[in-house]
Amino acid sequence: MTRPHIAVLGSINMDLVAYVAKAPQRGETVTGREFRTLPGGKGANQAVAAARAGATVSMIGAVGTDAFGDRLRSALDHSGVDTDLLRTVEGPSGTAHIVVDDDGGNAIVVIPGANAALTAVDAGDEAAIASAGALLLQLEIPLEGVLAAARSARASGVRTILTPAPAQPLPPELLAATDLLIPNEHEAAALTGLADPADAARALLDQVPEVVVTLGAAGSLYAARGADPVRVPARRVTAVDTTGAGDTFVGALAVALGEGNSLPEALSWASAASALSVRRPGAAASMPYRKEIDAEAG
Ligand code: ATP
Repeated sequence: MTRPHIAVLGSINMDLVAYVAKAPQRGETVTGREFRTLPGGKGANQAVAAARAGATVSMIGAVGTDAFGDRLRSALDHSGVDTDLLRTVEGPSGTAHIVVDDDGGNAIVVIPGANAALTAVDAGDEAAIASAGALLLQLEIPLEGVLAAARSARASGVRTILTPAPAQPLPPELLAATDLLIPNEHEAAALTGLADPADAARALLDQVPEVVVTLGAAGSLYAARGADPVRVPARRVTAVDTTGAGDTFVGALAVALGEGNSLPEALSWASAASALSVRRPGAAASMPYRKEIDAEAG
């Protein structure tokens, strides 16, 4: 089987995570228990997930000239992601400042840093997109950049898979250039105003040909025009840390589709991949490799 080639355009962040018993209120200072710096960003996470799941991945993104920039680039290299198209932009890398409390709740401030420079695609990016089987997009970089890449993929007949996170109103042109939309249930509700995921998926089919709504421990559902939405159950596992489950799911799904599997087959394989990731701590750190996913999927 030939290895699928996937292009990803998206954010690369350093997650700066403080673990505390209780998050501070405004004006309050608390002493935390632990601090970690973890490579993240939805773009980078999806790239790592797809590379570990067995694809050749071209990452289009930007890091800063600070020390995080080098670490973020080498973390991607280390997972086998091709970083030739990464820009290094004068100034800080993107950072996410995360406070996690003992109840598992979190509060997050994201500072885009270098990610804000991704407002267009250049000839090198377009060549990588044109030679890929799929383009993965999310919304943590400027919308102009997302649109430019989606247009480029459409012009080359490349399948575009969009994760609409963080939720925001989407320009019709972006939806028109999207082949598969993968919101979680909250994003699906925000995009449509419909709380029921099946209703939301049906409504989204007016704008995109295929929709997958992820439902956390309840699995996912997929919908295509002319058929009723179908539920795919999640694996029953003891979840340790669900951060990055969605990105693992999308990366693995893109690989399985790139290998010629049908959407239902690919969803089942992706749910095995994301079940493995929720059993382990961390986002990118918890993402499974090909052999583990094949063993889990059975
Ligand atoms: P995140 O933002 O944390 O990356 P998300 O909200 O984008 O996640 P989810 O819907 O939570 O995405 O999860 C994606 C997929 O991961 C689900 O469709 C499911 O297959 C799997 N998954 C998530 N949570 C669990 C769980 N507790 N047990 C088993 N599988 C899970």
